[in-house]
Amino acid sequence: MPVVSAKGMLVDAAVHAYAVGAFNVTNIIQMEAVIETAVERRAPVIIQTSMTPTKFLRPEVLVAAFRALAAPAPVPACLHLDHCTDAAYARHCADLGYTNIMFDGSKLDFEENVRVTREVVEHCHRLGDITVEGELGTVSGVEDQVRVAENEAELCDPARSREYVERTGVDLFAPAIGTAHGVYLTENPKIDFERFARIQEIVNGNGIVAPLIVHGGTGLKPEVVRRLVALGGAKFNVSTDLKLASIDATYEYITAHRTEYNPGKIDSAAKQAVIARVSYWMDLLGCAGKAP
Ligand SMILES: [Zn+2]
Repeated sequence: MPVVSAKGMLVDAAVHAYAVGAFNVTNIIQMEAVIETAVERRAPVIIQTSMTPTKFLRPEVLVAAFRALAAPAPVPACLHLDHCTDAAYARHCADLGYTNIMFDGSKLDFEENVRVTREVVEHCHRLGDITVEGELGTVSGVEDQVRVAENEAELCDPARSREYVERTGVDLFAPAIGTAHGVYLTENPKIDFERFARIQEIVNGNGIVAPLIVHGGTGLKPEVVRRLVALGGAKFNVSTDLKLASIDATYEYITAHRTEYNPGKIDSAAKQAVIARVSYWMDLLGCAGKAP
C-alpha cells in the first residue's frame, strides 16, 4: 500500500469512532515490529520518531527504512516526526520524506506558536501531501528534550482552539487535556474529558477539520482510552510503553542467557515484546481490522 499522510487516515478514524496508534520507535527493529504487527492485525499505523533518535539515526536513514518496510505492506502507514521544536529541522525532515510533521510550539506564546506553526504548515503543504500536527497547551512529563513539570502543564483553552486551527492551517490538533508523557505519577491522572469534548465540538463539530490527537497514552487505563476515543481522539501516541517493553525484554533475555552473546536473539526478544504491546494497543484503540 502506498505510504500515506496522516490526515485522510485520521479523518476516517474520527468518522468511524476508532483511533490509530502512533508508536514511537528508536531503532529499525522496533519499526519492523510495529509495521509487522499492523500487517498482522490489518491496522492503519503511524510510526513516530522524536528528535533525539531522529538525529541519532538520521532522518534519511529512517525514511529509507520506513519506505522499504511500509511500501510493500498491505496497510496504510505514515512516518511522523514527533514534538519537533525546531521549525528548520521540521522542514528538513519533510523535505527528506517524512509524511507527517508535528511542530511543537507549545512553549511559545500564542501568537508566536501560530506564526511559526503556520510557516511549517505552508512549507509542508507546498511539498504535497505532507500533513502537520500542532499543539496548544502543554502535555506534562518528558518527551525527548521537551520537559514540563506536571503542575506547570497548561491545558488547552477551548476558546482559542478554533482560532489556532484556522490561523495555522494545521491538519491535526493536539490539545493538552491532562495526559502526560512518561509514566503517570499517580494512579488516576486527572484527564479533562469535558474540555476534550468541548474542543472536539468547537473544532470538528461541523465536520472533521483537524482530527484530535491524544499524547501520553502509556499507562492510561483502558476505560480512559475508550472514553477519549469515543469523544473524538483519532490518534493515540504511545512511546514509553514500547521503551519499557523493549528494555525489560532485553534485560530479561540477557539475564537468563548471560554467556550466550548472540545479539540477534536479544533483538528478537525485544522485538517480540514490542509486538505484544502494539497488538494490545491496536485492540484497545479499535484500529485492528480497519485497514482498507
Ligand atoms: Zn507527545
